[in-house]
Amino acid sequence: MKETILENLKQVHANILSSCARCGRDPKEVTLIAVSKTKPLQALQAAYDCGERNFGENKVQEILQKAPMLPDDLCFHMIGHLQRNKVRQLLPYVTMIHSVDSLRLASEIQQEAERIGKVVDILLEVNVAQEESKFGFAVNEVLDAVLQISRFPNVRVCGLMTIAPFVENSEQNRPVFQKLFQLYVDIKHKNIDNTSMSVLSMGMTGDYQVAIEEGATMIRVGTGIFGVR
Ligand SMILES: *Cc1c(COP(=O)(O)O)cnc(C)c1O
Repeated sequence: MKETILENLKQVHANILSSCARCGRDPKEVTLIAVSKTKPLQALQAAYDCGERNFGENKVQEILQKAPMLPDDLCFHMIGHLQRNKVRQLLPYVTMIHSVDSLRLASEIQQEAERIGKVVDILLEVNVAQEESKFGFAVNEVLDAVLQISRFPNVRVCGLMTIAPFVENSEQNRPVFQKLFQLYVDIKHKNIDNTSMSVLSMGMTGDYQVAIEEGATMIRVGTGIFGVR
């Protein structure tokens, strides 16, 4: 298993370099989030030993179980739908929450973050393709949400995230990534207080190369590193 993960990671990093070369970006701008949901501790440890530090999980319970068993400098990113009643448990263990999809959730994070004296970095999830089955703000709701959340002192909006549709050909998702990038740039230019707009989390195993070409600063890759779930 360890050897496979090492080989897969080499491939993903080589692909990041070539995508960046194609569009003239600095590879340092792109952070790989190794999506380790459902995978055992040994798989995370193997990726850690290869130098990975950022891991993506979609269940609070799984983060709570894994975190105490792994090195302290391993960072967990919450990428799945988050229920408000799980926020309190999650906050001590999470580096960034990518999946903030409502003001009520942001407000709960504010309350719990204030309680423990922390400032929590979040991304707003955007349902760019308007899929019924997906969570997230509609494109035309995002600016207002950023403005409202910018008033929460213990929450910092760092950028946007999207889960693109499942497609056969990754090129089909290029317009989705372009649209999120445009929104990100538009909001960045407004220089909103307490808001950084420096993270654009988009691209998964099937389409991360296209996402990088369209401006992703975080890509979330699971299957391409750890194999099928
Ligand atoms: C599972 C998951 C991923 C990784 O998907 P792969 O296709 O395995 O790379 C990325 N983002 C989110 C939100 C996920 O739930």
